[in-house]
Amino acid sequence: MDSASSKQGVIFSTDVRDFGQVAKSVPCQNACPARTNIPGYIRCINEKRYGRAYEINRQANILPGVLGRICSRPCEEACRHGEPDNGQSVGICHLKRSCADLKSSMHRIVEALYAPSGKRVAVVGAGPAGLACAHDLAVLGHGVTIYESREKPGGMLMYGIPEFRLPRDLLMTEINNILRLGIQLKTGQAVGRNINIHDLKEEYEAVVITTGCVSPRKLRVQGEDLDNVYDGLSFMERVNAGEKPFVGKRVVVIGAGFTAVDCARSALRLGAAEVKMNIRKTEDQMRIDETEKHEALFEGIRIHSLVQPSKILGENGKVTGIEFRRTRLETQDQPPSKKAVPIEGSEFSIPCDSVIAALGQSPDAGEVSRDLTGRKADGHVTDMEGVFAAGDFVTGSSDVISAIAGGKKCALAMDEFLTGMVRKKKKIRLAPHTSTDRPRAFDFIPRKEMNTIDMDKRLEDYTHEVEKGFQPDQAHEESKRCYLCNLRYEIDPLRCIYCSACIDVAPKDCIKLVEEIPLKEDGSYDTYKETSQWDRVVSITIDNELCIRCGQCYQVCPMDCISVTKTDLVETDADE
Ligand SMILES: Cc1cc2nc3c(=O)[nH]c(=O)nc-3n(C[C@H](O)[C@H](O)[C@H](O)COP(=O)(O)OP(=O)(O)OC[C@H]3O[C@@H](n4cnc5c(N)ncnc54)[C@H](O)[C@@H]3O)c2cc1C
Ligand code: SF4
Ligand code: SF4
Ligand code: SF4
Repeated sequence: MDSASSKQGVIFSTDVRDFGQVAKSVPCQNACPARTNIPGYIRCINEKRYGRAYEINRQANILPGVLGRICSRPCEEACRHGEPDNGQSVGICHLKRSCADLKSSMHRIVEALYAPSGKRVAVVGAGPAGLACAHDLAVLGHGVTIYESREKPGGMLMYGIPEFRLPRDLLMTEINNILRLGIQLKTGQAVGRNINIHDLKEEYEAVVITTGCVSPRKLRVQGEDLDNVYDGLSFMERVNAGEKPFVGKRVVVIGAGFTAVDCARSALRLGAAEVKMNIRKTEDQMRIDETEKHEALFEGIRIHSLVQPSKILGENGKVTGIEFRRTRLETQDQPPSKKAVPIEGSEFSIPCDSVIAALGQSPDAGEVSRDLTGRKADGHVTDMEGVFAAGDFVTGSSDVISAIAGGKKCALAMDEFLTGMVRKKKKIRLAPHTSTDRPRAFDFIPRKEMNTIDMDKRLEDYTHEVEKGFQPDQAHEESKRCYLCNLRYEIDPLRCIYCSACIDVAPKDCIKLVEEIPLKEDGSYDTYKETSQWDRVVSITIDNELCIRCGQCYQVCPMDCISVTKTDLVETDADE
């Protein structure tokens, strides 16, 4: 077989049609930058195999306990359960956390190590991108040394994200599980200051830059230099280091992303009575997760939309207030689709004791990238021979799962550079599945909300984690909600007698009478021409993008012509 190889009834396919089908059928996995096998791990949670669920996650995203708490959750936005008339998306991220929380204390990490290659690699930066890249390079047999400018590894996970969202002992456990592959970590080593890329290039066969985005963007308004005006990242770094920067009673936060919300919630814990987040656009345009917004609002933070700071007001060198200009949204052709336009003459001011400007960060222009000036990073390859790049340093401020996905892809590109071979390949594993075993009643289970601690506990100590995780019964209930979209339902048109029993029981418009399936040039197809006239029907087909895997068609078919196949995107050795 050309594009597929068979092994004990299971087929590993490299057919473009199978990749296309899985991408469309399993929307959560396709939306995850690291392509985590979400239905695979949710099924394991359902079977109370938490350790296995953790390993499925770890293969794709390396820090499951961390991501289960702070992931930006693009998968949940894409989840089929959240589509119109299907209810709410599955709590994918909370389930990820539950497998990390509920796995046995005897759980053993699984690593499939390659033989030592004798090659040495330097990773610059120990944030999520650097750690993911270092891990995969070590698994591939390369000797890895990480150079990190700060005292501790973790990047923004350690220095940016507040402890009430991400406990540091959990973070260090997952980082140590990476480092214990024999990766050397050199902290307090700023590349560009203590050591430069050229030195590293001399010493190592390849170098990867994962230094993130550490230069805060400026407000560029009058009064920015006053006391008690902070940039979001420095503010969070100080709070995470245990300092208590002055915020006063009335705090104004500028910005609409992760950092802005973290600053607002931290200011509250530092004693502020009134915290206002001010955004140029509208709430629906904020780049944050709904749960996080919900928690911020619950804690009493207010969001003011359609405003932009025009001046920070002060007396005796200290902030006393801020002047805003109102904005309006204008639609534009290029992304972002909405642009905030200031309205002349709409200025107004409010009193405040501190201003935190959390406008995002850009890659460090001064230190490490000075050596790469004029050498624009293209994907993971820079045009300095043997120097690669990944994470926020390449993409600009993004999120942890994208940084991890970037780090992993970069490790494969570096491995090819170091060995001259492609050693890993993505395939689709197709396994016959004999039953659907998922009653329709599961579709009506309401989404389980996360347990959280009370307000007084939150304010008592900055480090108290707000979310408490799921109890085993909650995790089990939530896992039942997943449709298991990796199950592919198909009708064998040669055996079908067109009795339409399946169509009669279908809860959705998921089984189609088709008069034509146009093939694309590569042999794949993504559309079909439906018909309602029986004399034109040439086939009957299941639309796996609409199917909610209820199994009812499978149960009623008198001809047994509906089959179920489990489809998993996997990474195998290229020569397997
Ligand atoms: C306050 C805050 C909250 C956030 N919340 C979330 C969230 O809830 N969910 C989410 O998904 N994302 C969140 N993000 C974004 C996310 O943290 C980043 O996108 C992610 O950490 C980027 O990973 P990275 O490895 O590319 O870079 P970083 O995490 O920035 O790591 C870069 C590392 O390189 C080191 N370094 C820098 N310069 C040098 C040098 N010259 N030499 C050696 N080492 C160097 C740094 O010290 C750092 O350890 C948040 C960011 C912030 C600031
Ligand atoms: S129902 Fe399950 S498999 Fe389907 S998109 Fe949602 S989480 Fe993914
Ligand atoms: S399992 Fe069958 S009846 Fe149920 S949603 Fe899918 S195609 Fe429709
Ligand atoms: S129930 Fe079976 S035989 Fe009848 S139309 Fe559906 S697939 Fe064909």
